[in-house]
Formats: sequence, structure tokens, C-alpha cells
Amino acid sequence: MYDDLTLENFMAGLKKRNPNEPEFHQAVHEVAESVIPFILENPRYQQAGIIERMTEPDRTIIFRVVWEDDEGNIRVNRGFRVQFNNAIGPYKGGLRFHPSVNLSILKFLGFEQTFKNSLTTLPMGAGKGGADFNPRGKSDREVMRFCQSFMTELVHHIGPNTDVPAGDIGVGAREISYMFGQYKRLAHEFTGVLTGKALEFGGSLIRTEATGYGNAYFMEEMLKHHGDSTKGKTCVVSGSGNVATYCVQKITQLGGKVVTMSDSDGFIHDADGIDEEKLAWIIDLKTKRRGRIAEYAEKYGCDYHEGKRPWGVPCDLAYPCATQNELDGDDARALVANGCKAVSEGANMPTTLEGVEVLLENKLLYGPGKAANAGGVAVSGLEMTQNSIRMAWTSAELEQKLCDIMVNIHAQCAKHGYQDGYTNYVRGANIAGFIKVADAMLAYGVI
Ligand code: NDP
Repeated sequence: MYDDLTLENFMAGLKKRNPNEPEFHQAVHEVAESVIPFILENPRYQQAGIIERMTEPDRTIIFRVVWEDDEGNIRVNRGFRVQFNNAIGPYKGGLRFHPSVNLSILKFLGFEQTFKNSLTTLPMGAGKGGADFNPRGKSDREVMRFCQSFMTELVHHIGPNTDVPAGDIGVGAREISYMFGQYKRLAHEFTGVLTGKALEFGGSLIRTEATGYGNAYFMEEMLKHHGDSTKGKTCVVSGSGNVATYCVQKITQLGGKVVTMSDSDGFIHDADGIDEEKLAWIIDLKTKRRGRIAEYAEKYGCDYHEGKRPWGVPCDLAYPCATQNELDGDDARALVANGCKAVSEGANMPTTLEGVEVLLENKLLYGPGKAANAGGVAVSGLEMTQNSIRMAWTSAELEQKLCDIMVNIHAQCAKHGYQDGYTNYVRGANIAGFIKVADAMLAYGVI
């Protein structure tokens, strides 16, 4: 515990205890900047060392994952589960399969998840996991063997009342199904231990769409509170995975025109807009044929910018939906110069600290991922509820609940983020998310 709690000395201590974890430092810095002044106004949190406890995961599990490829070669990957905080419910958060996965990235994601899950108002703690496995270019059988091997270890650490993982980058319906099948076989029970399951075995309607839809709703809510709406706006979206595609779908339904999408090789710019029919083609390309976004430019005759990000394209609204640190200071300045009014993050921490500063200085409406993309985990929470009561709600019921949750998250952010005529949604999300978890930790005493 720090008697002299400042952002500088807190971050110096955190970096010393967690060397070589730049993404984790970045995520904590962004939260500490708004939460430390709040803690200083509320000394009970300082006396109990809450911020120090909240930045230390409950536990971190790292394990070997061995599998055999189609040529009979033995492959070795590293698996992780970071169980960050279960003060307000079982650990909950996605699994990411991507070659960049390491402890720093999973700790940043698990830490962010603490605040995000708190904001949903549902009883969910925070965790994150995954592996440095690259599903790109692997056959279905290889992915199946990897998922089964991964679950053979993970089964010891999860459970419907302990830790309930979901998907993230590189983990979609196919991977969740393979992992659920293996869990069921090893644990000898059928429970809602993973979310994002297929409908046939306990999945929830709207879960696939939830993160992207929720992000579009969050943007709509920010605009509504400032006398505006998505209708008629030109929108720039990055990514072409789960979050990006359903964000595009909801933006279009709300009357916006989306002109870009991307993948890790580059972005397409379709000035006519990506309508429902074109989007259906992209979903098929990405989920069934597992192709590249460049193929869209060939099919629909629009521009493709290899190795580039879309933030230089003039727009009213921007939605980063691909990955962390994909929008830096220069990108943010380009958005501002082109007259962009608002940014809502479908991805986790897509904007660098400098990028965030630029957006806030220029008073853009800026919805940080922990608030704006919480719709996914919220519907995961609703999937857990449906599994527990052994019933399924309809799409319409679930979309209404999702919409209500996003409106409620916006209200919490606005309550704690409004100051001098401007709503700082970063501060609002951090403080609102912090209070519930911190109060639960205070109630438990020193543990
Ligand atoms: P997907 O794997 O479905 O899609 C990821 C997309 O981002 C793909 O288009 C991918 O391109 C692109 N991408 C990945 N890495 C990079 C990179 N290094 N540079 C540029 N583009 C990249 O993942 P999701 O849509 O599920 O996740 C996207 C983001 O949303 C992540 O930050 C995730 O943590 C966050 N999120 C996801 C939730 C969910 O419910 N799925 C919930 C809340 C947040 P390529 O195909 O070339 O790899």
C-alpha cells in the first residue's frame, strides 16, 4: 500500500513487479489515471490497498499444449488462463488463439475484463486466456486436435461456477465446439462451462452478434445524448472478424454507411457503402472460406490498401474492431483533421495512450472498449443464466436485454464521466467499473 499514492509512484511499482509487460502497463495506466484521483477522494479504498490488489491476478496458469499436425509432426504451443478477479462472480472472459499471445497481452485483457464485466451489472468476475497457436492455414482436423489438447489441461481449472471462458480473436464457433466437446468428455457432465456455444447444445441466440451490435448501440447512445444519431453518417470500421461484421450490420440497420473494413493484410475502401448483401459475402468469406479481405476489392471493384489501416479515410464515425493498439496518435490526428465526431471501440484497447489523449483533447465522443464492447460478455452472462434455468429466450427478448444493458452502461459512464460540459467516457467507465468490484473486495476483508 502507498502512503503517497500518485500515478507516477504507483506505475513505477507496477512496472518493477511486472517487467516486460508493456500491454499490461498500458491498460493499468489508462485505468489508474482516472481511478487514483477518485481513490484519493475516498480514502477507504487507499487504506485497504484496493488498487494494488486489483492489479495482481488471483492466479495465472501456464501450460504446455502438444498436438500432431496433418503431416504427423509434433507441435508444441503455450496455453494460458489468467484468473484475474472473482470478487463479483465466477471468472469470465474469452480465449484468444493468435501467434502474438503472451502473458502481458492476457493480463491486460483480464484486467480490462474486470471493469467491463462490472459495468454490465451481471454477476461476473474476470479472466482471460488462450494460446500462441495460429489457426490461420490449419486444417479443421488440426484445429480440432489443438483444441482437444488445450482443453485436456484447461478442464482442471474451469467450471460453471468457477471460470467460464468464451471466444476472442481466433476462437469462434468452431473452436468453442471442439473445446466444449472435449470438456464434456473429460468432466463427464453437461454444463454451461463455455459461452458462445452453438444453439444445439446450450448456446444463446444473439451471442454471435452481441459485441458488434452492442458497440453500434453504444455509439448510437453517445450520439443520442448529444442530439445526434448514426443515421446518414459515413462510418469507418476496422477488422472483418466477429465483432467488425456484426458492428457493420447494426450500423447499416441504424442508417449509417460503412465504407471500410480490414484484416491484418490491409483495408478495403468501398465509397458506395458495404450493404447487407456485400456483408453477407464477407461473412461467408471469413467464416467458411477463410479468405482475405483483398478478395472483396476484386469482387466489388473498389480500392484495396495493402498494409494500411483505414483511419485516414474521411468519416463522421469510427469503430476500431480488430485488435489492440491499431489506432495511434497520428491516426487519431487524421480522424480529427477529417472531421470525425466520435469513436466507439469494438476491440479491446485498440487506441494507444497517445491516441486516447488526442481524442479527449479534441473533445470527440470516445467510447472505450471496456464500455462499448461489453455487449458480448453481457450476452455470455445471459447464456449462463439460460443454461442455469434450462430455458432459452427469443432473439427479440435477448436483443432488448442487450440494448437495455448498453443504455445502462452508457448511463453509468455519463454519471461518473461528465465534467464541465464534456463527458469523458474513459473516466466514467473506469470509476463506475471500479466501485462495484472495490466495494465487494472491501466487504470480504483482507483476502
Ligand atoms: P476475430 O478473430 O473474429 O477477428 C479479428 C479481426 O481483426 C480479423 O479481421 C483479423 O484479421 C484482425 N486482426 C487480428 N489481429 C490483427 C493485427 N495484429 N493487425 C490487424 N488486424 C488484425 O476476433 P473478434 O472479432 O472476436 O475480436 C476482435 C477484437 O474485439 C479483439 O480485440 C477482441 O479482444 C475484441 N472483443 C471480442 C469480443 C467477442 O465477443 N468476440 C468481445 C469483446 C471484445 P486476420 O483475419 O488477418 O487475422
